[in-house]
Amino acid sequence: MTPEEKPLNFLEQIIKADLEAGKYDKIITRFPPEPNGYLHIGHAKSICLNFGLAETFEGECNLRFDDTNPAKEDDEYIQAIIEDVSWLGFQWAGEVRYASSYFDQLYSWAVHLVEAGKAYVCDLSPDDARRYRGTLTEAGKNSPFRDRSVEENLHLLARMKAGEFDEGSKVLRAKIDMAHGNMNMRDPILYRIRKQHHHQTGNAWCIYPTYDFAHGQEDAIEGITHSICTLEFADHRPLYNWFIENLPVPAKPVQYEFGRLNLNYTVTSKRKLKQLVDENFVDGWDDPRMPTIAGYRRRGYTPASLRKFCDMIGVTKSDGVVDVAMLEHAIRDDLDKNAPRAMCVLKPLKVTLTNYPESKTETLTAPGHPQRDDLPMRELVFAREIFIDAEDFREEANKKYKRLVIGKRVRLRNAYIIEADEAVKDGKGNIIEVRARVIEDTLGKDPEDGVKAKGVIHWVAAQHCVDFEVRLYDRLFNDPAPDAGDKNFLDHINPESLQVLTHCKGEPGLSNVEIGMAFQFEREGYFCRDSRSTELVFNRTIGLRDSWAKIAD
Ligand code: ATP
Ligand code: MG
Repeated sequence: MTPEEKPLNFLEQIIKADLEAGKYDKIITRFPPEPNGYLHIGHAKSICLNFGLAETFEGECNLRFDDTNPAKEDDEYIQAIIEDVSWLGFQWAGEVRYASSYFDQLYSWAVHLVEAGKAYVCDLSPDDARRYRGTLTEAGKNSPFRDRSVEENLHLLARMKAGEFDEGSKVLRAKIDMAHGNMNMRDPILYRIRKQHHHQTGNAWCIYPTYDFAHGQEDAIEGITHSICTLEFADHRPLYNWFIENLPVPAKPVQYEFGRLNLNYTVTSKRKLKQLVDENFVDGWDDPRMPTIAGYRRRGYTPASLRKFCDMIGVTKSDGVVDVAMLEHAIRDDLDKNAPRAMCVLKPLKVTLTNYPESKTETLTAPGHPQRDDLPMRELVFAREIFIDAEDFREEANKKYKRLVIGKRVRLRNAYIIEADEAVKDGKGNIIEVRARVIEDTLGKDPEDGVKAKGVIHWVAAQHCVDFEVRLYDRLFNDPAPDAGDKNFLDHINPESLQVLTHCKGEPGLSNVEIGMAFQFEREGYFCRDSRSTELVFNRTIGLRDSWAKIAD
């Protein structure tokens, strides 16, 4: 299906209708992360959606940090989020924005509500407030502080702001309806006392607005037309609208909800990801096993593959669980088309080609990519001593094993056919070397004696190769739903999610590759140069076998 033929998702339909009805000249969306962790794959969906809608409808998308809770936020996260959104290939309109830069405006709107008799200072303890709130089936009770006069409320609010009261001793609440069927409408909290330093506003404030009081008003200040969030906020929409209706805001944004992305074998909660980092289950937020955008980048995922994945899963009005194999398919498909090929022997076994002269070498060429003439040819050196993978040799084997066996032939990829004569062993019986012969005149041809090779294996020349470390990554969790129900996700960590191989041997062209550069190591999988190590290290992005393509066929 071409993009033109693809049916519009429900948000595209709404926006198209709004534009056709002349409701807006231009749409403005926003991506509003809280800087309390690195972005994960769920955020990628929200980014692709919000920035994507702006692109499709020639509107704008803002990047706004929802930094109303100083306790858990950090500048490191702000920088990481900016980097991730840019890396995905999106550009926000104007400067990066901060909810905290609207604190003065939000406070004056709180005063406005107090003056209108629609907000009050409440001294109930958190426990009492919970008791007064009622339940889903029972109405709440009015706070004994609900009928304070406007003057008293204004005075108390000013004193809260001035830092005269302890944390937890007072809050500012909206005066709506303690019997409302929607619990969010039972006099929700607008401001809390938090005597904490804020990464943007320093010590200027000791009261901070709640998400509910801040979010819609921030949208209004920025002229957001379509404020898109995940389904769990649907119950907050009446409150969102109540503030917009009861405040002199400059615009009337509308909130829409979509289903969040859940992936099997994966946790997508910043809190849990932070725990994995803090408790050293992984090597930082950008560990290649983490489902963070930074982790995928270091693992070798491309922006195009993450965007493609977000496009494949679509946008719906219900939550669902997506098979992680689909994400793996997206990167495999991208790398299959674009990554140059190379040979790398992960578990080297020396093969001596006894009939090949010791002093001789030949330079052979191989295509950079079987279907891509635009990628440069590779130069390989052939010599008497080579390495093959230990898995590619057996002394004896049945017919299904199409690799090197004593007395049998195999083709060395891009080079000659060889035949094995003998396995050399150490004192413990381990095979340490194979002695074999080159079958003459078999470069790109079958042998004249008609005895063909059954299979093809990869190799490198022992004196003409690059030595490096390879990290084989696997899924971080071995349970499809590691944090479902009352499971503890830490109990389901895959103990084999990282396997480090040292002294792998790669073809000469791998010596000087750029950080992040991706390759298909033929017969092994897709790999990319690690960005953190100063030494040459390759991370396995993904193996060759595609379990999703099979399901999708
Ligand atoms: P987490 O629960 O991981 O902390 P969050 O929703 O609290 O995530 P925010 O920084 O508040 O994180 O989210 C920024 C935006 O990303 C919000 O609009 C949110 O709805 C969206 N988002 C977060 N997680 C997902 C997800 N799994 N799928 C789709 N969108 C998501
Ligand atoms: Mg949040």
